[in-house]
Order: sequence, then structure tokens, then C-alpha cells
Amino acid sequence: MRVAFLGLGIMGRSMAANLVKAGHEVAVWNRSGGKDVEGARSAVSPADAAQGAEVVWMCVADTKAVEAVLFGAGGVEQVLTAGMIIADSSTISPSATRRFAERVKARGVDYVDAPMTGSKIAAEAGNLIFMAGGDEAALARLQPLFQAMGKQVFHMGETSKGQATKLVMNLQIALIYEGFAEALTLATKLGVDAEKLLPLVQASMVRSGVVDYKAPFILKRDFSPNFPLRLMLKDIRLALDAAKESRVRLPGLEAVEEVYDVAAEEGQQDLDYASTLTLLEKWAGVEVKAASK
Ligand code: NAP
Repeated sequence: MRVAFLGLGIMGRSMAANLVKAGHEVAVWNRSGGKDVEGARSAVSPADAAQGAEVVWMCVADTKAVEAVLFGAGGVEQVLTAGMIIADSSTISPSATRRFAERVKARGVDYVDAPMTGSKIAAEAGNLIFMAGGDEAALARLQPLFQAMGKQVFHMGETSKGQATKLVMNLQIALIYEGFAEALTLATKLGVDAEKLLPLVQASMVRSGVVDYKAPFILKRDFSPNFPLRLMLKDIRLALDAAKESRVRLPGLEAVEEVYDVAAEEGQQDLDYASTLTLLEKWAGVEVKAASK
């Protein structure tokens, strides 16, 4: 297929490369220069990339970035043609997604929100899991592209339901991780060894994939970004905004947002979100360690 891929960050670059590898004709664009993908045409603007494309796939930072790429100067809107599909793998606001979709649908263009879960490594390996919102027929047309970049697609309903799902997935990750980090901090203060606690956690109903993933990094004190704190904070705020719009109270997530706010103020935005542990440690005057170290 002829695909325009917009946004070559941690995730987007590997996703575009996998589309090229699968034999698709890809044009790429990134806001700042110096990023390209072997085998893809480098375009000078989103409109240039999207000219003549069957599918425009976006993976940019946030809601404002998607709006700029679609409707800003040199945006995709200039070259929309009936029958085109726009797919968005950025994590952004569900209500803004509905607005963007309506605007392009008036021009005969389908809009599929397709945020994903999986790390940089899953993006490189083509193992992402997508949660999609949009028409069944549009999703079916995107199937070869989903297959090139991921291993599973969950169709959650009409346009914006993929984004809504992504927010509730990250809400759970943020709360589960913060519970784990608080438990580790209190355990250490009470003299319980983290390495002894972990097998008990994983043998009991407390077990979780979040603990599986994060515990080895914590024991190594490695807080380099797999998923940067700034992006998790964006998603926490998106979930709180969506909750406010729909008159839902999320007191647990509000408390976690405060911890992230302080962590961001302390300069931890570009570290992994697991580094919120270091704040709890500082407040408690302890450090979680592997006893064997
Ligand atoms: P990233 O490395 O920070 O890349 C962000 C991309 O967005 C860059 O290409 C950046 O361009 C572009 N961008 C930012 N503001 C823009 C604007 N105003 N106009 C146009 N382009 C703009 O982020 P990432 O990790 O690839 O994540 C991309 C999206 O996927 C985010 O919504 C994130 O929440 C989501 N996501 C990430 C992960 C993960 O593990 N990293 C997992 C699942 C979902 P420049 O290069 O010019 O800055």
C-alpha cells in the first residue's frame, strides 16, 4: 500500500521501518530534520508525505501535535482525497479524536484511532498490540499494515474508543506501579527485604505484569526510559480530563498525578516513570535494594 508515516520518535521510526520491510511504499515526515527511514521517501511536510497516499499513519507526541500535523501549516488536510484512511497511533484525547474524525469524514476520509501498547522493543520487533476505534471496513483495509507493525489488534468500537481504551489501560499501569512502589518503600522502612518480598507478591493474588516488567529494573537501580515519565504524566492528565468531561471521580489517579507533578518538577521527565519510586524513598529516607548487592 502507499502509506504516509508522520512522526519518527522512539516508536514511529521503527513502525515506519517495519512498513518498508513488509514491502509497502512509504513516505515519512518528522517535525525536526535529521530523521529518516531507509527505503522510505523523506517528505518536506505532512501534506507532501500524504500526497497520493492511501493511508496516512500518525505517531506523534500529543493532541496538539496531531492537530498541527492534520490541520496546521502544510498539514494533511490540504491533500485529503475521498477513500483515504487516517490512522493515529499517538495517545491523545478521545473527544479531540472525535472532532478530528468528523472534520476529515466531511471530505470522504475514514479515521481510525489505533493507539498501541508495547515498548520500544515491541515497536522494533513488530510485536505491538493495537486497540482500535473505527469502521470495521476501514480496519479490514488496514490489516496488512497492522500485521507489519504488530501482533494483535483489538477492535474496541467506533472512532475514539481506541483512545478511550488506551487511557484506561495506562490508568491501571500508573496505579498498579505506584502501589508496588509504595509497598517496596514501606517494606524497606520496616526492614523487609525487597528480594524476599517479590516472589511472595508473584505467588499471590497481588501478582502483576507491571511488577514482572519493572522489578528487575528497580533492583538494578536502572531508571533509563522505557516509557518516559513525561508521556505517562500526559496520559494521566488525559484520563483525568476524560473523567471530568464525563463526570467521573478518580481520586486514586489524582493522588498519583501529584506524585508525577513533583517528579517532573524535580527534573525526572525524561527518566522512566518507575523513577517515581525515588521520590517515595527520599521522603521515607530509605533506598530499596537487592539484598544480594
Ligand atoms: P517521542 O520519541 O517523544 O516522539 C514524539 C514524536 O512527536 C516526534 O516525532 C516529535 O517530533 C513529534 N512531535 C512532537 N510535537 C510535535 C508537534 N507539535 N508537531 C509535529 N510533531 C510533533 O515519543 P514516542 O515514544 O515515539 O511516542 C509517540 C506516541 O506514542 C505518544 O503519544 C506516546 O504516548 C505513545 N506511546 C509511546 C510508547 C512508548 O513506550 N514510548 C508506548 C505506547 C504509546 P520531533 O522529533 O521534532 O520532536
